[in-house]
This record gives sequence, structure tokens and C-alpha cells, in this order.
Amino acid sequence: MRVAVGLVVCMMLAVIPSAAAQYDPTQTPMWPGEPVDSHVHMTWAALTLEVNDWADENSDIVDLVSAGKSELGRDLWVVRLSDWSMETKANGSSKEIVYIDGGHHGNEYLGTALAWLSAKWYINGWNDGNEEAISVLQNNELHILIMLNPDGNDIDTRWNINQVDLNRNYDHYWNTCPTTQPGSSAFSEAETAANAAYIDAHVTDADLYVTMHTGVWIILYPWGKWPEQPPDWELFWTIRDTVNAGISDIPIQNANQGLYPNCGTSRDYGYGQMGFPTFTFETDDEQFVPGSFENINDRLAEEMDVMRYLIENVWYWRARLVVQSLAVEEGTLTLDVINHGQASTANASLEYHNAAGEVLWASSLFGVNATNSTTVSFDVDQNVFTTEGKWNLNYQKRVINAATWVNETVDSNLTVNFIEAEEGFLLGFGLFNPLAVIFSMIGVSVLTRREEDND
Ligand SMILES: [Zn+2]
Repeated sequence: MRVAVGLVVCMMLAVIPSAAAQYDPTQTPMWPGEPVDSHVHMTWAALTLEVNDWADENSDIVDLVSAGKSELGRDLWVVRLSDWSMETKANGSSKEIVYIDGGHHGNEYLGTALAWLSAKWYINGWNDGNEEAISVLQNNELHILIMLNPDGNDIDTRWNINQVDLNRNYDHYWNTCPTTQPGSSAFSEAETAANAAYIDAHVTDADLYVTMHTGVWIILYPWGKWPEQPPDWELFWTIRDTVNAGISDIPIQNANQGLYPNCGTSRDYGYGQMGFPTFTFETDDEQFVPGSFENINDRLAEEMDVMRYLIENVWYWRARLVVQSLAVEEGTLTLDVINHGQASTANASLEYHNAAGEVLWASSLFGVNATNSTTVSFDVDQNVFTTEGKWNLNYQKRVINAATWVNETVDSNLTVNFIEAEEGFLLGFGLFNPLAVIFSMIGVSVLTRREEDND
């Protein structure tokens, strides 16, 4: 006897005007740095007062911690922003995580300024009741280390106090290219070691890492080490094309080609070792032109528009697999999976667990491209499957080897119906997601919608 299959997924789609959001001068705070020697500057002491004020005045959303100390003992402040009254999103799922740092190079004040602005924009927006800022802080954690090199910052130099280029000191192909002063070994410096330790302790699950510098008007993605495009080129190109189509015409390139070959950078480390989608934001060098201060906030505001887009849409910067249908019949299991994320995944598998959580069957690996669906079939012994078990999808969030693995239960609210012969012998299994029809009709052009209740 065949039994019809019925299952309901709770999923709400809300349209957000993300990519179209434009800079609103009434909402973008001004960088408070003081002009010094033809560029703007904020001392570590001034920053320390400022971020402590933020924490004191906004304890609902600002959690201030130190990631460690510089070589000269200055705290490396991390401003952690979220609606801390809620540990999770309203639907109970985990918040997305964003990591930002600024000021690797002590004389690149606009990179530090942009990190400062990235915190201040959301603090002001939250206090002003801005819908975008509230939504971002309810659904995400932003971890922002504003000034990584306070010793170099305060004496206006690129290097840290040991004359090391901190952005060549990371443990990713360290000192394997013609480079500036990379230090005596990877992570030889207190600042980079503290940054890596913070990342490892608090943001390993980040789906966005932006590191902020000053030099030329460009945004860079991996690799710096190689001229080839990175494994997740699809994700980086989608972001590039969306930004350039509607937000800013700032050039967006892989770092090796867009700037020059480099190695041991935090960007390549964040992608190659941690598996994050990473970007280096460079603001142009107008700061070195006397009398050009008046343009700085406009330049920063344009990059803030890009940052807001990246942050607001962080949900999409990974693979997001959802089962559309699953059927077992005549010794064949057929699986139809859709990917709502903008990143592809290469190593997905379907697992079947018994009630005790033991894996009784796992498929071979298969890939699902970004914003696409895949149908795969496997030969199975269908006696393995019972009414008691659960199905899980196991996959990496991105193609890069270092990407985090996720193991997600195929919606536990689904009712499973088995196809049984009259004597109770199991003939097959069917599972169908009714929303699959809707998705196939609307397609998966998802950048303008957010699925609040589907993760
Ligand atoms: Zn720099």
C-alpha cells in the first residue's frame, strides 16, 4: 500500500532592499580622527576611551573585550556587537558571525577608520531605531578589532615596534615570496598571535572576514600568494558583480593580480587556513594629499555601503543545502538537494542514522553548485532504513579545503512515510518538500530575500 507523503517546513521569506541601500549622510557617523601631518589619526589612548564609552552606554549591544596586548602592552580592543539579550536568533538558530579587523599597518589610518565606522554605524543605527541595524544585530554577531597595531599607529609607522610587517607574519605560506619584513617566524609578533588566537577561540564559524587597510582604491579577495582564482571564485565573483552593479564601482580583484604577489597575509590565512570568505578593503591614499581631508568621509561612506551589503547578506556566503525530495525505491535512493547559498560545496553526503545516532548508511560524496540544485542517485540496501531513523546532510560550507563542516538534520519536523507491502515488508521510502515546487517556480535568485526561519 502506498501512503501519500506530506511534510511542512516552516519557512518565511522576507524581501529586503539590501543591495540597493544607499549611503544616508544622516546615519553615517564621521570618523573623529584629527588631522596630523596631512592625514587623519586617532591615538590608541583616544580609541580606548571611545570604545569604553560605547560599552558603558550601550551594554545591550556592545561587549568590549581585549584580544591580548601589543608588544608594548597596549590592549587590542575587540568591539563585539549583537543584541546580547538573545543568545540566538528569534527562531532559535545560531547567529551568523562576522569578523573585522583594522590597523595592521600603523600608518594606514583610513583602514582603522573604516573598522571604527563599521562598529559605530550599527551602534548609532540601533539607538536610532534603524531597521537594518536592528535586524543585523538581532541575527548576527559582529566582532571588530579596530586597531591591531597600536604601537605602530601611535608613532605613525607601517611596522610594529619590532619593525615587522604584521600583514606578512601569518601562518599561511609565510615568507615564501619576495616580501617586506615578515618577522622571525609565523606569528612571532604579539599582535598577529593574539589576532589568530582570538579567531580560533571565538569566530571559527565566521562566514565573512574583512581586514581593512589603506593604499589604493580596491577590494581584494584571495589569493595574494597565487595568481590563480581561489576555489570559491564563484562566491567572490557574485559579490564583485553585485557590488559593481549597484553599490560601488570600486575594483574587486584577487590580491595577487589586483595589487601584487604577497604571502603570509591575514586575508590568505583567513581563507586558506580558516576557510572564511575574506576581503582586504583598501581605501585610497588621499590621506597623503595635503588638504584632502574633506573627501575622506565620502570615500569611507562608499566603502561602508559595501560593508553593509556584505554584513546584511552574510547568511548567503556559504553553501545552504535543503532537501527537496528523497525517495528509496527498488534499491535506488534518489536525492534532490537545493543550495540556497552563494557558495558551492564539493563534499556533500547524505547520512542515515538510527535512533541511537549511529550512522547506518552514508552516500558517496557529491557537489552542489551555488544557487543551484542537484539530483543524485545511489544504490542502496533499503532494509537498512526504518521508521525510527533520521537523515542528515554532511557538507562543507565552501569549496576551500579549510571550510567548516556542517552536519544538519534533514528537517526533523518532517513526517516520513514508508511504502509498505501488505505483509509489512518495506518496499520503499518517500520524502517530499512541498516548498520545492515554489522554489523551482521562483528560481533561486536569492540575493534580495532573506530566509529568517530556514536555518
Ligand atoms: Zn596595509
